[in-house]
Amino acid sequence: MEQEKDQAKVSRRRFLEASSAMLVVAAGVQAAQGQEKQIRSADHHLPNESQPVQNNDPLDKENPSSVWAPPTDSGGQPPFKYSFSLSHKRQEEGGWTRQVTVRDLPISKKMAGVQMRLITGGIRELHWHVGAEWALMLYGNARITAVDQEGRSHVSDVTKGDLWIFPGGIPHSIQGLGPDGCEFLLVFNDGNFNEFDTFLLTDWMTHTPPDVLAKNFGVPESTFDKVPKKELFIFERPLPRPLADEQKQAEAGTGRVPHSFDFKPVEMKPTKVSHGGEVKIIDQKIWPATNIAAAIVTLKPGGLRELHWHPNEDEWQYYVVGKGRMTVFSAGGHARTMDFQGGDVGYIDKSVPHYIENTGDTDLTFIEVFPTPFYEDISLAEWLAHTPSRLVDQHIQVGEDFLAKIPKKEMIITPE
Ligand code: MN
Ligand code: MN
Repeated sequence: MEQEKDQAKVSRRRFLEASSAMLVVAAGVQAAQGQEKQIRSADHHLPNESQPVQNNDPLDKENPSSVWAPPTDSGGQPPFKYSFSLSHKRQEEGGWTRQVTVRDLPISKKMAGVQMRLITGGIRELHWHVGAEWALMLYGNARITAVDQEGRSHVSDVTKGDLWIFPGGIPHSIQGLGPDGCEFLLVFNDGNFNEFDTFLLTDWMTHTPPDVLAKNFGVPESTFDKVPKKELFIFERPLPRPLADEQKQAEAGTGRVPHSFDFKPVEMKPTKVSHGGEVKIIDQKIWPATNIAAAIVTLKPGGLRELHWHPNEDEWQYYVVGKGRMTVFSAGGHARTMDFQGGDVGYIDKSVPHYIENTGDTDLTFIEVFPTPFYEDISLAEWLAHTPSRLVDQHIQVGEDFLAKIPKKEMIITPE
């Protein structure tokens, strides 16, 4: 009996000793925390935050999330932003062009983009390339032409907001119309694309002996005397003839392409609308000719393109107008935030999660383009909403009430 009491005393003493030891340890941590130096301040006034020497201040101002990263960022990822403003602009008599490719933005392995301006009458020479070309008209008017593998023709006039697709290997042209030509964006399903290195009509003719051309067409060699000795690329000519006349002439004998190469998003209803903005998803389900999927996203001030990823392909982004920031989380505890505005390109690898916030006081419009016929995404919310709530709560302890309230259908843009 006495022995048992003694043992109880001992174990009680040991328990108290152990507890007080733990308290000391805990107090030590608290003391250490109390002594820990503050390393971030809201107005960045601390000595460890100052930057005493000259810096690229305008660039800093445009990239606040790089200069003062959110505390949840941990950097580490290669950059996923490049601006057309940093690209070389090639000027020609009929307009100009510049590009952002994998050579500029190393992460953008599967897609590249081109901006092009054509004056009234300015022609982007008849040409083709191996990759497919997806386009968004940003300004003005143009006439596009193309011929498919069965000799069928596409001739149409496109205006601001319209899209076109020229599948890989399909020859085509673009000509600026009045009153002030056009500007457009091209996206290619090939990161290594080079707009300055396409298959051009004049270039091929110049590098084919005239007697071969004569034999090919069954005409005298002199027919080809005036073929330019140098590529035209972007040049100026009088305006085209009336659309109906040119369509009729081009379609003679073979007809029109079965699925139009152009598409007018203005004529479709948004795929989703919320208080945060709206999105139009345009893929082969609604535009049979395209083998490139896209989403046109408009975020109102404060709107959020929700946390999500794309399981089937990489995403190439172009910011049309407004200001925003994107955070990309990659495995291994890395997260990085970068700021974007009109004219910038963003890129996210397949299945890598991300979200975009409107950080300005006007609408933010950007496009997501995917080198695949069909759009696919998975959002954090729909993942959690359709997993047993018991299991999710056992991970993140947010309460099953909250989990039950997550919308069962994907939001895409929040707030609801
Ligand atoms: Mn092209
Ligand atoms: Mn996305």
